Amino acid sequence: MSSDDNQSPFLIFGAPQLDESDIEEVVACLRSGWLGTGPRVAQFERDFATFRRVQPSQVAAVNSCTAALHVSMLAAGIEPGSEVITTPLTFCATVNAILHAGHVPVLADVDPITQNIDPQAIEAAITPRTRAIVPVHFAGRPCEMDLIMAIARKHGLVVIEDCAHAVEAAFHGQPLGTFGDFGCFSFYVTKNVTTGEGGMILGRSEEQLARARILALHGMSKDAWHRFGDQGYKHYQVVESGFKYNMTDLQAAIGLHQLARVEKNWLRRQAIWQRYDEAFANLPITLPAPPDAAMRHGLHLYTVMIDVRRCGIGRDDFLDAMNGLRIGTGVHYLSIPEHAYYQQRFGWRPEQWPRAMRLGRETVSLPLSPALSDDDVARVIEAVRSILRA
Ligand SMILES: *Cc1c(COP(=O)(O)O)cnc(C)c1O
Repeated sequence: MSSDDNQSPFLIFGAPQLDESDIEEVVACLRSGWLGTGPRVAQFERDFATFRRVQPSQVAAVNSCTAALHVSMLAAGIEPGSEVITTPLTFCATVNAILHAGHVPVLADVDPITQNIDPQAIEAAITPRTRAIVPVHFAGRPCEMDLIMAIARKHGLVVIEDCAHAVEAAFHGQPLGTFGDFGCFSFYVTKNVTTGEGGMILGRSEEQLARARILALHGMSKDAWHRFGDQGYKHYQVVESGFKYNMTDLQAAIGLHQLARVEKNWLRRQAIWQRYDEAFANLPITLPAPPDAAMRHGLHLYTVMIDVRRCGIGRDDFLDAMNGLRIGTGVHYLSIPEHAYYQQRFGWRPEQWPRAMRLGRETVSLPLSPALSDDDVARVIEAVRSILRA
């Protein structure tokens, strides 16, 4: 490694693409004196509803996707102790939300090519206690929602889509998050739209969405915006034992202008994706499955598989080498049963879901932020090539 490499700036994985309009909106929010849940959250909800082509009464902004998953699962009215099927190749929050809602997570292995939950594995995991499926649109690639919804209808199951990677993705032209009973979105810093921390619940049923909204703000019948608005004081009733999951105007201010840039940022990620595809075509690594014509892929993560037998270097050594070249990477994800808590609580072993285990042990996510310059992308390409050539 040359000393130049040591001096080049660290390339942050998943850096947000922010511009002056975001900064000005945050400053305007601060100057307005209204930082809590208020007009900017309401605007963000309306804009998001338009963006996903649903009614404003079908969305509720919250403070994370984890919160969205939790209250969706409660609002769906599934009896506690039900089995909920999800993928082992996801962030722990997906499984934790199932546990928070008082249910029993059941894992169904992924397709080794798409890395999404395999509909056949879902069918095989169904028991008389199954009540719901939580598909995760991994890396922004839509799950096979036609097959999954057919399974759900056949067995009378609730579907809650984890759309954390897939804010702009669609399947056969239909926005993700609108297939299931609920769609849950994340605006965490690394996601395609960010509010620092934040999330959105999209509900097919306005009634269930209204319940999710109440659950997300202490179980109060009227939200603080109405209470503290200029319409005069409004009494509220607590109608459930709810949670403190509301989004604030300060968060909404960060995200408001990003919705208008979703397409531009997607095109930028697509250009980076194509450069990676071309640059890595001859390397002994497995590249992401190409999107097919039926989908708008969210292009959230560019994941490559480092198989030590083909590459001569293991995944973790590859991560260290990238870090040595001052390039941030990610691992999405070590499969859920690799973690101590789930092993101890459920007796799970990674080998029970061999495809997710293998992917989780080989996968590396390369930087794909639209904030990357062409030079940054060239640096990533050169780093990957040099490590694999060594
Ligand atoms: C980021 C993420 C979440 C959690 O989102 P938060 O907004 O951080 O709570 C859930 N599921 C998946 C697949 C994620 O990537």
